[in-house]
Amino acid sequence: MTQMAIYPGTFDPITNGHLDIIRRGAVLFDQVIVAVANSARKSPRFLLEDRIAMCEQALSDLANVRVQELKGMTVDFAKQQQVQFILRGLRGITDFDYERQIAHMNQQLSSGMETVFLSASEATSFVSGTMVREIMDVGGDVSAFVPASVIPYLQK
Ligand code: ADP
Repeated sequence: MTQMAIYPGTFDPITNGHLDIIRRGAVLFDQVIVAVANSARKSPRFLLEDRIAMCEQALSDLANVRVQELKGMTVDFAKQQQVQFILRGLRGITDFDYERQIAHMNQQLSSGMETVFLSASEATSFVSGTMVREIMDVGGDVSAFVPASVIPYLQK
């Protein structure tokens, strides 16, 4: 049986922290679907199509990873795609508390849906989309925190 995981998020933009989780997930699972949510509620900085393009370019070397738009609920999307696992990254206690709630909720919404957590690597555990956007706002250099594919989109 093919073991598949969905990695849902806003990816506004994709960071080296996300990349770390995806690369490690791609070793654990036969296939990983990076599911990019519109997340209108979060008023994303980048257009959905650009967030998808940045992910596709950053992940093009990983043969068992594909990028898709996440429409609707993660559990429904997972069921449609016959995906058994949700992959999430944990940076620290704050993530843990929030992620635990989502994992329990998803378990309720779709019995048997397991969430697999990977602990962020030391080198990227402090990287967040929020921090990258804040540095961008003041004209700082974010190239150490995001994949190279993101850089051309920052000037747009
Ligand atoms: P963010 O929290 O940066 O806005 P998303 O909403 O795109 O990210 O979340 C997608 C997933 O990526 C979540 O599980 C989040 O905890 C995880 N994640 C985000 N940044 C990192 C990082 N630096 N290291 C590990 N996991 C991360």
